[in-house]
Amino acid sequence: MAYELPPLPYAREALEPHLSAETIDYHYGKHHQKYVTKLNQLTEGGEHADKTLEQIIADAGSGPVFNNAAQVWNHNFYWNCLSPEGGGAPEGPLAAAIEAGFGSLEGFQDEFTQAVVDLFGVGWVWLVKDGEGMVSVIATKDAVNPLTHGRVALLTCDVWEHAFYIDYRNDKAAYMDAFWKLVNWRFVEERYTTT
Ligand code: MN
Repeated sequence: MAYELPPLPYAREALEPHLSAETIDYHYGKHHQKYVTKLNQLTEGGEHADKTLEQIIADAGSGPVFNNAAQVWNHNFYWNCLSPEGGGAPEGPLAAAIEAGFGSLEGFQDEFTQAVVDLFGVGWVWLVKDGEGMVSVIATKDAVNPLTHGRVALLTCDVWEHAFYIDYRNDKAAYMDAFWKLVNWRFVEERYTTT
């Protein structure tokens, strides 16, 4: 069973003007694709060949197999966190959890944005849920994701330079202004209530 690059949930130019088609061409078409291709090369005929991405992430330890499997999972998840119809505010139980965890939506967005700005090197920032339904922000390095921390990922932002450098150069804060206009809260709400 070969791993595949899932279809992007929207057209490559659909996130403009916030993220350009050129960014998506490289980020989805080249970086994400390369993680998929590499994972297939690394796992073909080996002990991980027929596992799900989640099983590899749990089993592989650190190293190239973990890195490529986790990067495929992280990017699959990231594209679903964005939408041309995104932005605005969460509703329902997720909105209540964010208010309980951060005081307000603005408090959450400030903490999440600061975690992106402060992340040294490359990695990801996440909104996660624990076993009690409490939400918090965590940053992870390189390919690491909340699955390895035993927590449920609700939302992520890619903080590798390939995610923002074409459009925003070194300005992570400007990338985050764009990110909040694209967040697919309906997806995040569904993650909160169903996982
Ligand atoms: Mn990326």
